[in-house]
Amino acid sequence: MPEIKEILNLIGTKISEEGQETIKKAYKFAEHAHEGQKRMDGTPYFSHVLETAKTLAKLGMDVKTIVAGLLHDVLEDTEITEEEMKKEFGEEIVFLVNGVTKLGTLKYRGHERHVESLRKFFVAMTNDLRVVIIKFADRLHNLHTLQFIREDKRKRIAMESIEVYAPLANRLGMGKLKGEIEDAAFPFAYPEEYLEIEEMIKEEKNLYQKYLSEVHEKLEKELQKNKVNVVEINYRMKHKYSLWRKLLKRDMDIAKIHDIVALRIVVKNVEECYRVLGIIHSIWKPLPGRIKDYIAVPKPNGYRSIHTTIFTGSGGTAEIQIRTVEMHAEAAYGIAAHFAYKEKGKQNNEDKSKFKWIEELKDFNYSLDNPDKYLEHLKTDFFNDRIFIFTPKGDVVDLPEDSSPIDFAYAIHSDIGDHISGVKVNNKIAPILSNLKNGDIVEIIMNKKSHPSSKWLNYSKTNIAKKNIKSYLEKNSLLSKLKTFGRS
Ligand code: MN
Repeated sequence: MPEIKEILNLIGTKISEEGQETIKKAYKFAEHAHEGQKRMDGTPYFSHVLETAKTLAKLGMDVKTIVAGLLHDVLEDTEITEEEMKKEFGEEIVFLVNGVTKLGTLKYRGHERHVESLRKFFVAMTNDLRVVIIKFADRLHNLHTLQFIREDKRKRIAMESIEVYAPLANRLGMGKLKGEIEDAAFPFAYPEEYLEIEEMIKEEKNLYQKYLSEVHEKLEKELQKNKVNVVEINYRMKHKYSLWRKLLKRDMDIAKIHDIVALRIVVKNVEECYRVLGIIHSIWKPLPGRIKDYIAVPKPNGYRSIHTTIFTGSGGTAEIQIRTVEMHAEAAYGIAAHFAYKEKGKQNNEDKSKFKWIEELKDFNYSLDNPDKYLEHLKTDFFNDRIFIFTPKGDVVDLPEDSSPIDFAYAIHSDIGDHISGVKVNNKIAPILSNLKNGDIVEIIMNKKSHPSSKWLNYSKTNIAKKNIKSYLEKNSLLSKLKTFGRS
């Protein structure tokens, strides 16, 4: 079984005998369970779970997560029962696998206003971020085999990946995975735009690579001369989807984009990052306004690195990124990097992000230096005071705990709130003045003649509902006064 070795090698860090045995056992278990099953492209089903596990290993996830990755489709798609899995692998694995299955039932329907709720719900319903990371790995492989899926389904999966999965991966700081998910989904989500970008970068790419190799050679010598401890120098191509998003903001003018290809220098510590910057600027002139110190001021998602763009001397420009080994791992793997790398005395980011909920999640994890504790804290309980309610079409609306159908109606539209005549909760007629529960499917029955009453105020939790009810009541009492006045 050479593939098992491959997984073990991908994990890299020392892995216990016991851990290796568990992974081998899960490998055989999954291979046996999926025996005879085929994917849409005709390959054995097992190849899908294997690829999922490999992605998790590359992310440096723990043994349990990799095992759950191998087993993630066993309960849903084979005869194996929860009991059997529990007996072989324990309760935690069953919990992770069930979490992944549950996430699979969630469907994106393209209603922009609810996408943010969907992302929150995605994290909230799992209770454990490892489930989300397994789902990312699962989705990435499904995207890579998307051409074999029915066309309408293909588009939905691609859009869902771009709108829900990728932004979540980004907010968890998993930049590499985010880029991979977006690029795998891009041709299916926006086929024409994808071809346009392909065409555009064909020539530019070679040009930039030429500029960079000139810089690379000279820089390597200078760094050696100055005795800088270089760990790694490499190139990175800008991901196509993020290039397209950037071009949209720059009048589709590729000349305005400076980082299509970038040179990356990885060094041992922060001090050396600034030394390297000094050496670069003493050889080449930097483009004004293009020096960005994300080490001193990290990006809201935690990204740290120094960026500078220089004139290469032969008429071109080149972007150079400087960072430490830890920053490099973090930029790629984000929250997952903390399984492999630990850093002491990490400063908290200034909380400028509008995505405060995920920031809290990250800061929370950053402050921990014990991996077991870290795992424990990966279990998210940030959403204890929120409930997630579905429309009959499957959109998610997130509301404070103890919200009522009135809050739900106003969260969708004030006109719906103003004309509630009845409500169905999980397909059954229910009282309007009641509390909703997490996961309820709520349908509002409207009637043009129905109107808010002052009683509703006691059954609304959200400001938007309260505001609308009050404004209706005020308008109405004013109107009735006017009517009375007119009559007398
Ligand atoms: Mn799967």
